[in-house]
Amino acid sequence: MNREKIRLSVEIPDKNYWRRLVSCQDACPVHTDARGYVRAIAEGNYELAFRLARGPNPLASICGRVCQAPCEEACRRSAIDAPISIRALKRFTTEQCGAEAKKDTPLSVVESVRRITSANTARDELQHIVNAQSEGRLPRAEGQQVAIIGGGPAGLSCAHDLSLFGFSPVIFEMESKPAGMLYTGIPEFRLPREVIDAEIRTIESLGVKMRCGTTVGTDIQFPEILREFSAAVISVGAKHSKGLNVPGEDALGVHGGVEFLRKLSLGQEVKLGKQVVVIGGGFTAMDCSRSSLRFGATDVVTILYRRTRDEMPVSDLELEEASEEGVEFKYLVTPLAIEKDSEGKVTGVRLQGICLGPPDASGRRRPEPIPGSEFLQPCDTLIRAIGQQTDLSFIDTNRDGLTFNKWGLIDCDEETLTTKLPGVFMAGDAAYGTSLVIDAVASGKKAARSIYHHLLKHPIVIETTQTHEDLGTYTREIGFESIPRTVIPRAEKDIRIADHNASVELGYDEGRARLEASRCLDCGINTIFDGQKCILCGGCVDICPTRCLKLVPLADLNLTEAQEERAVECIGDELKHGSAIIKDEDACIRCGLCARWCPPKAITMERMHFSEEWS
Ligand SMILES: Cc1cc2nc3c(=O)[nH]c(=O)nc-3n(C[C@H](O)[C@H](O)[C@H](O)COP(=O)(O)OP(=O)(O)OC[C@H]3O[C@@H](n4cnc5c(N)ncnc54)[C@H](O)[C@@H]3O)c2cc1C
Repeated sequence: MNREKIRLSVEIPDKNYWRRLVSCQDACPVHTDARGYVRAIAEGNYELAFRLARGPNPLASICGRVCQAPCEEACRRSAIDAPISIRALKRFTTEQCGAEAKKDTPLSVVESVRRITSANTARDELQHIVNAQSEGRLPRAEGQQVAIIGGGPAGLSCAHDLSLFGFSPVIFEMESKPAGMLYTGIPEFRLPREVIDAEIRTIESLGVKMRCGTTVGTDIQFPEILREFSAAVISVGAKHSKGLNVPGEDALGVHGGVEFLRKLSLGQEVKLGKQVVVIGGGFTAMDCSRSSLRFGATDVVTILYRRTRDEMPVSDLELEEASEEGVEFKYLVTPLAIEKDSEGKVTGVRLQGICLGPPDASGRRRPEPIPGSEFLQPCDTLIRAIGQQTDLSFIDTNRDGLTFNKWGLIDCDEETLTTKLPGVFMAGDAAYGTSLVIDAVASGKKAARSIYHHLLKHPIVIETTQTHEDLGTYTREIGFESIPRTVIPRAEKDIRIADHNASVELGYDEGRARLEASRCLDCGINTIFDGQKCILCGGCVDICPTRCLKLVPLADLNLTEAQEERAVECIGDELKHGSAIIKDEDACIRCGLCARWCPPKAITMERMHFSEEWS
């Protein structure tokens, strides 16, 4: 049989390739060098670890507690067993050196960076800014005042970066304290208030002013802000629960999820029944159900969700913790009507069964009602947690020259966050709809860069250069590839329920943190092959424990025209007869055995450094 040979498609590494390989950093919206801080923890260098974690993220301590950690989803270690617990390791670094570790003396970020950087060669974003300013590449702003409407993670991050650039940011916040959903949404048992306070003290220490208890639209009007400030950022989040749009929603005992959590956070009284149902499947639904158990629901708390567990946008850990505490789940149901008694109190919710049809516009399978499947779920409290909406009533489109899109949000450019009104910018959930803390942080920082460009007429250009560092004798922790993911210790269930605010997660101690960090595959280190020295013995292929290397004739490779040109540049006419080592990056665990074994020392283990020039 004349079987056609399959030719392999390959990629020839370049700067983007090496960067992409560090998948944790690539997946982080602020590009935190997670691999860098995880390896620094493994080596016991906690100060460096902190600097790398804090550099691009003004809310690193908060993220160490509640980040949804897109880095973990991207972590290559999942292919072996389970991803590195990057978030819990971030918490470990901030507990060592972060804002919460320095309760009495608020850390002056820039000062601390100056102090720490003198001792290290690796650089982070804060250092780039400090260096670019002192070398005159990044002119400092001259204290122009910028108004930030809404002091959630987006507003705080924007204010933080603006003050580093030399502006004078003023945050207008309607609540008595800033931090947005971190303070009025996420319960204390997941995010201790002293961590929030410490992080805010740090931001204030940079000169950020906070006008709390000031609602824009009531206490001060938007046009007044435009008159008094050089620029403004709208980062008001999405503070209002969406309605279910079913009859009976006005019954007594029906609460909006974020309103319910806000009251609990502010210590206000909420009357809870014994049987609570929560409708929804995201963060708010989980936090409402777990809070209900802590604040009086004695019989049962049930989450009703219209899709299945697979479509729920919460982590396995959160679901595990909620189930452990006693939350029950009913999937594939949707509410039809809320039932009430003669006094108008909720007595139950009429539900209909759902099956999942073909995917909808979001790519998720569309819930479709099953006729004749209706049933009553009794309850005396019902919490709506099916999403939130933004209140932009302080904007008058005719007066202010801003326009709204079909989702009721202000039209803005996704990349620059600029609006139709020059000098007005958007950030966070109010810009793109509800998302994650780390997305809000990223967008606040983006808005700060756009404001800098707008007011100083100087775009911030970040150029990345790549350098290789030959690590010489390179070894890894013995058996690192078979260490299982280290469980994050948590408080006993009974303690959690008895003390409303007791932290559920207890975090890693030093031993556990270093053990977990030692599992990292260190994707920033690479095997570099020197074709001039290689004798094609195939020893590296044989010794590789994961069989990720292959020695193949070049003729077997399906090279693109550009790749062929590059190969000819490197090896000239021999292209047709030469050989190549190809590597499956997903399988490589950076153990370094190939480099140690190679008789002519044609393989080196090299760390890639990506250095940024800000101007
Ligand atoms: C219950 C809950 C739990 C969550 N858990 C997580 C989690 O574990 N991990 C995660 O990554 N994300 C989580 N999220 C999502 C995350 O909290 C949000 O994406 C994030 O807070 C959005 O930040 P923001 O700054 O855009 O808005 P917000 O945090 O909503 O902040 C907006 C601020 O603007 C203020 N404001 C509004 N209107 C005005 C006005 N007119 N004048 C003055 N001030 C005003 C508000 O009071 C608020 O402080 C959760 C969300 C909720 C609701």
